[in-house]
Order: sequence, then C-alpha cells, then structure tokens
Amino acid sequence: MKVTFPHMGNIYIAAKALLDGMGVDYVIPEKNNDAVLEIGSLHSPEEICLPYKLMIGNYIRAIEQGADTIILAGSCGPCRFGEYCELQMNLMKSLGYNINFIVIDYPKDIGLRELYRRIKVLSSAGSKNIIQKIHAFSSSVKVMNLIDEIEQSAYMYAGYERNKGECKNLLNKCKADVMNCTNPKEMINFLKIYREKFNHINVDINKNPLHIAIIGEIYTVIEPFSNFYIEDKLMDYGVSSSRGLTPSWWVKNAALSPLKINSLHIRKNAKKYLPMQIGGHAVECIGEAVTACAEGFDGAIQIFPMGCMPEIVSKSILPTISKEMNFPVMSLVVDDMTGEAGYVTRIEAFLDLLERRRQNVLSGC
Ligand code: SF4
Repeated sequence: MKVTFPHMGNIYIAAKALLDGMGVDYVIPEKNNDAVLEIGSLHSPEEICLPYKLMIGNYIRAIEQGADTIILAGSCGPCRFGEYCELQMNLMKSLGYNINFIVIDYPKDIGLRELYRRIKVLSSAGSKNIIQKIHAFSSSVKVMNLIDEIEQSAYMYAGYERNKGECKNLLNKCKADVMNCTNPKEMINFLKIYREKFNHINVDINKNPLHIAIIGEIYTVIEPFSNFYIEDKLMDYGVSSSRGLTPSWWVKNAALSPLKINSLHIRKNAKKYLPMQIGGHAVECIGEAVTACAEGFDGAIQIFPMGCMPEIVSKSILPTISKEMNFPVMSLVVDDMTGEAGYVTRIEAFLDLLERRRQNVLSGC
C-alpha cells in the first residue's frame, strides 16, 4: 500500500511524522500550483468549490508517482464537504483510477468501531510495531501543534521585526528543513529549536503594525495557494496577522466535539448572529470576527471559495457585525478563475482604509 493525502497548509508535515513513525509507504503530492489546479479543474464538475478541484489535482499527481490509497478527512455537516468522499470516489473511478479511499470521519457519524476499522487498515500497512505506531500518532500531533505555533508566531512578529523579511525567511527555512528529518523525534526536536529561534526574533515593540484576523472557509484560509499566499503578502507589508483555523485547531475541535466543549469561546461570541451550525465553519467565521474586534484587531479578511454555501451565509451576516461593532471586514472570494492582480489591489486598498481609520482616530476626526 502506498498512501497519499490532499494538501492543506502544513498537514503534509504532520502526515510525514505519522507515516514515517508507522513505517507506512507514502507519496506527498507536489505542492499546489497552477498545473495541479488545471488538472483538477479539468476533471471536476465546473461549479464545485475550489478545494474539491485542488484535491482531485493532488490525487492525480500522487497516483502518477505510485500512490494507490488516499487518506481523506470526513464530513463537517450539511455543505458539500459531507459528500466529497463519495463524489471523489466516483469521479476517480470514472476516470479509470483503481484506488482505495480511507475516510477518517467523526465517530458520531460512523461509530467508534468503524473508525477503528479504518484506522486499522492504515495501521496494518505499517512496518513498525503497535507501540511505535501509537507513538507515531502522538508525535504527529506534537509536530502539528509545533508547526502551527511557529507559523502563528511568524505571522504575528512580522509586523514588529527590525530586519525586514526575517520572519518569512526563517519560517520558509523551517518548513523546508523539517522535511529532511528522518523520524518524528528528530522533527519534534528540530521544530522546538525553531520555536526558540522565533522567541528571539529581533523585534521593535514600539512599532504599532496593523493587526488583521484571517477568517472564513477552513481550506482556503489554511491552504496558501488557494488564498494567493495572503499571509506571506501581509508579512511583506509589515502587517501582523492571526488565524484561528489551523490543522491543530481542527484536531482539537474534533476531539472535544463529542463532549460539546469545543471552541466554547468562539461559539459564544457567534451566538447572537449565528446560533446554529449550518455546515462548514460559518459559526467559527462569525465568532472569530466578533472575537477579533473585542481583542482590538484593526480588521478582518474573510476568504472563501466561490459557491461556498456556509460562507455565503457568513458574508451576509458580517456587514451587521461590522456596522454594530464598527469593525471593518472585507470578503474575498476565490476560484480557479480569480486573477491575482485584482485580489492584491483589494488587499492593498483595505490596508489603506485601515491606516486612514487609525489616523482619523488619532487626529480626532
Ligand atoms: S465549506 Fe464551502 S468550500 Fe468547503 S466543502 Fe463546504 S461548500 Fe465547499
């Protein structure tokens, strides 16, 4: 068995730790790029959301490198994501690919026994013993937490750095070098060294950069290719940014959701505007906008794929939050036809607006 998985931000780093630790043979698909999107779009239904197209592109590229099994996280409610695995299985079959899917879903949806069976299919492909496999799982969670923490530090410190580009360069170096590690323990030690390096970035605490919250649909906020590397761009502009939705947040949220103690703060903040789950991460989007305002952020940027049903609902609620809380929010919609130039112009115009707002407050206008 040679497994693969779709890209979504830093997931590939944690997946490497897991699969190396279990002794499972795997293929990491090439990073998302125009060619991957083109091949995914070619075979996907035209009106399906962007993540689906990129995932299909990832699968086809990985199969070309020998992958025969796809690991996919399961449903998150009544939007299309709930149907992704069936749709993608049928599509890949109709394209003539003979591959297996292992769908890791919530126990509440498939039952603990079925979840255990699916994990066992993956586990049985590994060459390591059971203790090493359990250890690999906990190590991959540690790797995921560490890389998310490092990334969040880089995005926040970028607004304060004295040496322009230092955070971005260090983050890119960290992500590239960690992939040269040969086992999960080495990856954890390596990431801890980088976490320490970020704690010693040369910053100017007297700077007062803009602070932006990145909110919206989980795939497009996490996967940099789908949002035109917005966090890198904000680093280049000297803006600090923060994003609540990360792979480690997703794991923690999934683990706590059976007890209904997941994301309590976010759900509480969203309750006034969106009191129920409508699929995707619309509640988180609304809750994060309210939280960002309460925490003194200058504004929020919502990103979502064209046709994303939950985020269209969020987009219709955000102007009310913006008006009631006097908090600027900009929505960016992405799909395979989005042009980068217009996208960048909108980001720059939004940053100008936030700067002018600040100046008006300072001058008492
Ligand atoms: S959350 Fe939006 S983008 Fe994601 S699967 Fe659902 S509809 Fe598509």
